[in-house]
Amino acid sequence: MSQQGYVATPPYSQAQPGMGGYPAGFGSAPAQPLYRHYGGPPQSFPAPPTGMMKPVSSPSGMPPTQVPSHYGSNGQQNGAHPQSYPAPPYGQPPQSPYHSTAHQGPPPAQQLTNQMGAMNLGYGPGPMQSHQAPPTSPLIQQPFQTTPPPAMGHPPLGPPPTGPHSSQMAPPQSPLAGPPMGGPPSMGGPPPMGGMGRPFPGPPPPGAGGFQQPGPGAAGPPGYPQQLQGQLGGQMAGPGMAGPGMAGPGMAGPFQGGAAQMAGPPQKKLDPDSIPSTTQVIEDDQAKRGGQVYTTNVRGQVPPLVTTDYTVQDQGNASPRFMRCTTYSFPSTADLAKQCQVPLATIIKPFATVPKNETPMYVVNHGETGPIRCNRCKAYMCPYMQFIDGGRRYQCGFCNCVNEVPAFYFQHLDHMGRRVDFYERPELSLGSYEFAATLDYCKNNKPASPPAYIFMIDVSYANIKSGLVRLVCEELKTLLDNLPREDGAESSMVKVGFVTYNKILHFYNVNSALAQPQMMVVSDTAEMFVPLLDGFLVNFQESCAVINNLLDQIPDMFADTNESETVFAPVIQAGVEALKAAECSGKLFIFHSSIPTAEAPGKLKNRDDKKLINTEKEKTLFQPQKAVYEQLSKDCVSQGCSVDLFLFPSQYVDIATMGDVPTHTGGSVFKYSNFQVDMDGEHFLSDLRKDVEKAIGFDAIMRVRTSTGFRATDFFGAIHMNNTTDVEMAAVDCDKAVTVEFKHDDTLSEETGALMQCALLYTTISGQRRLRIHNLSLNCSAQLSELYKSCETDALINFFTKSAYRAMLNQPLKTVREILVNQMAHMLACYRKNCASPSAASQLILPDAMKVFPVYLNSLLKTGPLVGSAELSTDDRAHQRLSTTAMGVEDTQLLLYPRLVPLHNMDVASDMVPAPVRCSEERLTDAGMFLLENGCSLFLWLGQACPPELIQSIFNVTSFAHLPIDLRSLPELDNPQSKKLRSIIDSLLDQRPSSMKLLIVKQKDRSEMLFRQHLVEDKGLHGGASYMDFLCYVHREIRQVLT
Ligand SMILES: [Zn+2]
Repeated sequence: MSQQGYVATPPYSQAQPGMGGYPAGFGSAPAQPLYRHYGGPPQSFPAPPTGMMKPVSSPSGMPPTQVPSHYGSNGQQNGAHPQSYPAPPYGQPPQSPYHSTAHQGPPPAQQLTNQMGAMNLGYGPGPMQSHQAPPTSPLIQQPFQTTPPPAMGHPPLGPPPTGPHSSQMAPPQSPLAGPPMGGPPSMGGPPPMGGMGRPFPGPPPPGAGGFQQPGPGAAGPPGYPQQLQGQLGGQMAGPGMAGPGMAGPGMAGPFQGGAAQMAGPPQKKLDPDSIPSTTQVIEDDQAKRGGQVYTTNVRGQVPPLVTTDYTVQDQGNASPRFMRCTTYSFPSTADLAKQCQVPLATIIKPFATVPKNETPMYVVNHGETGPIRCNRCKAYMCPYMQFIDGGRRYQCGFCNCVNEVPAFYFQHLDHMGRRVDFYERPELSLGSYEFAATLDYCKNNKPASPPAYIFMIDVSYANIKSGLVRLVCEELKTLLDNLPREDGAESSMVKVGFVTYNKILHFYNVNSALAQPQMMVVSDTAEMFVPLLDGFLVNFQESCAVINNLLDQIPDMFADTNESETVFAPVIQAGVEALKAAECSGKLFIFHSSIPTAEAPGKLKNRDDKKLINTEKEKTLFQPQKAVYEQLSKDCVSQGCSVDLFLFPSQYVDIATMGDVPTHTGGSVFKYSNFQVDMDGEHFLSDLRKDVEKAIGFDAIMRVRTSTGFRATDFFGAIHMNNTTDVEMAAVDCDKAVTVEFKHDDTLSEETGALMQCALLYTTISGQRRLRIHNLSLNCSAQLSELYKSCETDALINFFTKSAYRAMLNQPLKTVREILVNQMAHMLACYRKNCASPSAASQLILPDAMKVFPVYLNSLLKTGPLVGSAELSTDDRAHQRLSTTAMGVEDTQLLLYPRLVPLHNMDVASDMVPAPVRCSEERLTDAGMFLLENGCSLFLWLGQACPPELIQSIFNVTSFAHLPIDLRSLPELDNPQSKKLRSIIDSLLDQRPSSMKLLIVKQKDRSEMLFRQHLVEDKGLHGGASYMDFLCYVHREIRQVLT
């Protein structure tokens, strides 16, 4: 249709000649199995039906997304240039479309230009240069030009812009004459890069990124962040940040402390609008790319932000929902990578939920031959394999090995050199698909069984008294009807089992043949065994009557208990043993209240010690008590046993240790402190329901292969690693992500780019063994400007969060914080030095794609785990640390920059949620009502002068003053405001992986502190700088690096 010859939507929905019915068991033997744990030579086995199965989530063969079939320049989304994805033969030099920049970052919004002008804050040219090129000439691959792009370095004295941001452009006439940034001793001396001599431990990295690179030339005592507070005031405005817009009379807010030190003309209030705004970036991306179709046919294409609402059409690269990178253009050499210190990482969420309007996952079944793989590197057949020699052989895109095409798989090539069946085979034309796995991929070469869910309820005094046990039992009666099932299946194949425990364990026989459930007690917790096989793990539908009987009885059976001691490790051990006996994988749902002090393996004691905070030993608070729990994690992983822990503590329970097994087995830790059924019951039940019902795979092992020149070196997630390459996950659900870091081991080719293939072998919810493949291709360039243009701030902060939270187990928190700031300063300084056009040193120049990175990093520094404050509970800090382990990019983005939504002016007639505002106290108004959420917490903040009509319609009382002291929930009132507010909250809760408890906070009430700590642009309640102060500090750091 077009010059690309690659336009049509693949006709998967149509009859697929050639897809089914090709001879199975024909051709060469399958490649050696990759996953050696399950070893054993290939064997014959009853062949599953051959041919391509229907899409996983659409039994009816749902067609791929309905999008226009033209992907030429006119139809191009997202600014992608028209070259289509896999056209060119790999390894064949000229005219590769990949050679072009293919860069698609958003052109900077005009408002930002305006904003920045006021402040001497420049953005790097970022994507705008390539954008200015007409779409017909995509081959610009220039290094960054020296001409400053319009958005950069807007002349400080330029005319004030018009429009919504004109206020911040304000009067440039009064540059602040403060002392130079670098000068005053009150800054606490040179920046903290000194002290960085000891990087985070770990294998010595061959390249840049991570935490291993201390800053070159760094010297001087660490100074951030404590020393910073309240001191930055005056100094920073000198030549440093001294944009005219920055300075002025009456400088307020964060700068008050220092204002007195400032010399010179009277100061103006610093306009917070003049520094880069996350909400603006989000809004701009939504305006530019929202509602569009993002086709994945271009290598190195930067996807829309995670916050943007878009539709993906897979055309050869995995959807950004599955794989998202810190940059889409890798530096071509290790030296460049080291120089820029931008981490090269991909966040992989293999089971990410895909919206209904996007193409579901196809399953390819090659029968008993199994998937086709490269003989040398074992990569799976994918769009990066180049067919040659008339289709008889193919060259692997990852290792360049030339392989024979198995006879059954042979197909002729068209005049473009592409197989004639290109569109009929997902593995040739799509970025993501699944293969049915053969027995070679199964444990002991035996077919897998459906997984089992075991519910393990702590029936000690605390849980009985709080009513939790009754609540759980009551809920399970209905919840078990909703166990996950294969699409189209009539019922779930997941088996269920029940255990109660305090100091001893009670197993239940719920065999459908029984009239009454039977209890079996195991009191020897040192040698855990499962006292029954038959009747413990059962099908819920079959045993429904017995199970409901049991669930009715449990709360009464223990109603009079006095037992307050519990065991914990033996409970997990019991679950593993039960799964082992049943030869299946599965998940334990443990509902536990207290620190396990009963005499048994894994017994814990209270080791909380606030005196350790801000000392070298603070890290020990977060280190799990190893021994028993480490071995337990290994046992769980080898059995495919995931652990989800629901904790109901009333005091310290050592979450650092209790959460260790869940966070190594693809599980989660949910925490409900001082649980009260009436206040927290619904919150907990929503979490439980989501958790039980969510899409999930079991007994998984993931391998990330790369093209030559780089490789995956580090992995972060709720995973276990026995060696350096295989990522083992007892389970992986739709919300769990693994962050993978890459390093160079050679020079990368700009021609072929950087290719990666994530292969996940797992067991489906119905017990089928599958391989889920995600492929992604990135660009490579010797120009660092390409890297900076293609950066993804949200992905970067995900990497920084996970690596810092891991590093804090081994390093003092202060060192971790310093390394974070130092690395960011180096990233930004390198940009300034190598990519930005010359400008005054007083200008802070940020790459466009990274311009809000500082606000995220500052927010990270202020999070509970890193802030080092004795006011925070150790368990809360440990919990937050563990919770981020498996977070995807969406989750860390929201966590570090919460959404603050003004509700007092909402348009009740519209379906839209009002646009969020910046997370700062300055955005609150006394007459306002705001919703704040970060994925973990949800607040409704009410200003003192909130209009009585609004209060009336939401709460049914006459005014703010009449609101009850502890507002717990929103009444369901029949008026538009109430309905709208509740529907906004419901839809938020629906989108997030876990439930959030709504806290209603009145301005000036004590509880307001809980809310205010999420205003991440302000100075931290427990320490940490405001965004403005931090930006000035970063600027100073950058200048330090550059001199
Ligand atoms: Zn290969």
